[in-house]
Amino acid sequence: MKTLEEFQKEDEKNRKKVLKKYPEKLKPCPFCGGKARIVVDDDFVYIQCKKCEVNTRYEDWEDIYADGPGVVISEGPGVLIKEWNTRKEK
Ligand SMILES: [Zn+2]
Repeated sequence: MKTLEEFQKEDEKNRKKVLKKYPEKLKPCPFCGGKARIVVDDDFVYIQCKKCEVNTRYEDWEDIYADGPGVVISEGPGVLIKEWNTRKEK
């Protein structure tokens, strides 16, 4: 059995991998202007505002590790970042 600490460590490691693969900057929260961050847990990735904690839908993240040139199974994190950074024109 893994301890909670081990899980947290793993999540942090995964988060770093995702951030490395998707270095695009996140815009501030559209609701409160707070800073956004990418959250990665065991199965999912999502974007959340640090201030009001609003978050995007969840996407799988693990498939981004499919190795081999040109093999992209999931664009999960990339899609979420694009969605988060998209603003409706007034
Ligand atoms: Zn917010």
